[in-house]
Amino acid sequence: MIAAEWKPIPELVAKVSGHKKVLVAGCATCVAECAAGGEREAETLAPLLTLALAEKGHSVDVVTVTLERQCEFEFYNEIPDLLETEEIDAVVSLACGIGVQAFMEWFPSVRVYPGVNTSALVIREAPGVWTARCEACGDCILDETFGICPMARCSKGILNGPCGGTSNEGKCEVDSDTDCAWKLIVERGIQAGRVEDLMAVRKAKNYSNSRHGGPKRIVREDLQA
Ligand code: SF4
Ligand code: SF4
Repeated sequence: MIAAEWKPIPELVAKVSGHKKVLVAGCATCVAECAAGGEREAETLAPLLTLALAEKGHSVDVVTVTLERQCEFEFYNEIPDLLETEEIDAVVSLACGIGVQAFMEWFPSVRVYPGVNTSALVIREAPGVWTARCEACGDCILDETFGICPMARCSKGILNGPCGGTSNEGKCEVDSDTDCAWKLIVERGIQAGRVEDLMAVRKAKNYSNSRHGGPKRIVREDLQA
């Protein structure tokens, strides 16, 4: 899923302080799963924002809504009425960057502020802990690395690791709280009984399929008809 984290409240206060009525818009999908932008977080942020604005001498009314998915236009049906009847003059979107862009695309005349910083494509490793598992590189090699992504999980994105800096405890030399991805890959290879497969030298990836090749566009003609 896509993970995000709240922006600092003072940053949001600075952005919305000139408005009269602000809609905090949650998204019930990824950002809800990572406890950053779902209904609960929207309901929590609204009073905190009101209070923080009041402390700075701004009287701003803050209301909330949560869409099933902000990245899909079909879930925006109730928004036009809400914007009009509530006389909303700004939106703080708690969706990921994709949801915020969809909101702005759908309502270009409305001031929309991102309420979260979108961080990574993650898995929930433990309660309250999410770790990046994919960089959306467009050229997946997980079958060659026993299901552990060296792009997302090796600090240097090394395809033929390890780099030589792994600690004796198997931690990454860049971040001692993180397991060396290549230690994990080798362990998984041993577990699978195919560790010798890692002896094959992996060629450079096709980075033109990633962000480095320009903005990504996926076209499925079979679905266009
Ligand atoms: S190899 Fe690329 S597509 Fe596959 S998990 Fe890693 S970053 Fe994602
Ligand atoms: S120690 Fe392991 S995870 Fe860290 S940069 Fe080196 S190979 Fe990558």
